[in-house]
Amino acid sequence: MARDIDKSIKPATLSAQALGWLDPSTRAVAPPIHPSTNYARDENYAKFENRAYTRDENPTYEQLEALLAALEKGAAAMVFGSGMASATTVMMSLSPGDHVVAPTIMYFGLRNWLVNVGRRWGLEVDFVPPGDMVALANAVEKDKTRLVWIETPANPTWEVTDIEEAARIAHDAGAILGVDSTVATPVLTNPIDFGADIVMHSGTKYLNGHGDVLAGALVTARKDELWNRMNYLRFENGGMLGAFEAWLLLRGMRTLHLRVAQASQSALRIAEHFENHPQVAAVLYPGLPTHEGHDIAARQMNGGFGGMLSLRVKGGTDAALEVAKALKLFVSATSLGGVESLVEHRATVEGPESPVPDDLLRLSVGVEDAGDLIADLERALAASP
Ligand SMILES: *Cc1c(COP(=O)(O)O)cnc(C)c1O
Repeated sequence: MARDIDKSIKPATLSAQALGWLDPSTRAVAPPIHPSTNYARDENYAKFENRAYTRDENPTYEQLEALLAALEKGAAAMVFGSGMASATTVMMSLSPGDHVVAPTIMYFGLRNWLVNVGRRWGLEVDFVPPGDMVALANAVEKDKTRLVWIETPANPTWEVTDIEEAARIAHDAGAILGVDSTVATPVLTNPIDFGADIVMHSGTKYLNGHGDVLAGALVTARKDELWNRMNYLRFENGGMLGAFEAWLLLRGMRTLHLRVAQASQSALRIAEHFENHPQVAAVLYPGLPTHEGHDIAARQMNGGFGGMLSLRVKGGTDAALEVAKALKLFVSATSLGGVESLVEHRATVEGPESPVPDDLLRLSVGVEDAGDLIADLERALAASP
C-alpha cells in the first residue's frame, strides 16, 4: 500500500506527506479507513494479499507501520492498541527464567508490570539507576540476561542514558537492547542508529499528539525470528490497534515534526527562565547545560531536547500541589506529548511506592505561545505559599 521510500527524502517530508501515498482507485490524498474485520477469499479460495482477519492484517495499519519504520530507520514496525501492549509484547517474547535489566526510573506502568506480572510469570528482573553505566554493566549476566531495557530521557526526572554504551553492554552479554523512546520521539532520536534492537513508542503521546488516541508501536532493527515472535504475540494476545485509531494516529503524525520542534523550543525557554527562580529548587531538563546528561543528550538527540521537563518546587508536596492548582493554562491532567500543556504531581499519581520526589511537578509543554506558558507558571508560583 505504501510506496517505496526514497532514502534521500527527509523524515519531516515523509511524515507530512504520510509517505506520499495516493489511493490508487480514487486518487484520494487522505488515506481511507478499512473498518472491515474480515477479508474475503479469492476465487481460488486463497487469501487475497494475505489478509483474513483484522487482528492480524488490515490495510489501515500498513501505511502507518511503513512510516514508523522509515522514521525510526528500522526494518519493520508493528502497531498496538496501547504503548503498554507494545512494551509487554517485548517482555512476553522472552521465556521464564530469562533475565531483564530495567531502570529504576521508567514509565511506572511498565515498572509495575515487571514487578507484579513479569516476575510472577518467571522473568528475573533487576533494576539499576537510569544512566548509570557501571551499575548496568554489573547487573547484566553473560548468556542469562536477554533484555536490557532503557528509557531516555527517563520519565519524570529526565535522566539521560547513553544508548550506544547501553547497546554495547547488552550485546557483550548476549542480550538485546530495547528503548522506550516515547519522550524523545523519532524526530529527536533514532535509537537504532546507536545500536538498539527494538524501539518502543506510546503512540498515545507525541506520535498522535492530540490526546485522543491510545496506541503503541514497536520498530525493530531487523525483521528476524524475534520480530516473528512479537508479531505472533500481537496476533494471539489480541493487543491490535483499531482501524479508526490507526487512521487518527497517521493523521496526527503528519504534524509530528512541527509539534516536536515547537514543544522543544518552548520547553528550553521555560527551563532557562525558571532555572534560577527563587521558588524553584531545581529544573530538570536535558537541554540545560547544567543537567548531568546534557552532553550525551546533545550527542544522541538531534535538534532539540524534547517538550518534557520537571520543576522541583521549594516547600515540598504542599507547595507543589498549590502551584499545580493555581495554574490556568497548564491543565492538571496525566499523559504527555499533546498540543496542549499539562502539569502533573507524579508522586500523588504513582502512590507511596513511587521513587519520584514529592516536590516535583512534571510539565508536558504543548505548542501554545511560550510567553503565555511562562506567565502562567510565574503567576502560579507567586500565588503559592
Ligand atoms: C504513556 C507511556 C507509556 C505507556 O503507553 P500507553 O499508550 O499509555 O499504554 C510507556 N512509556 C512512556 C514513556 C509513556 O509516557
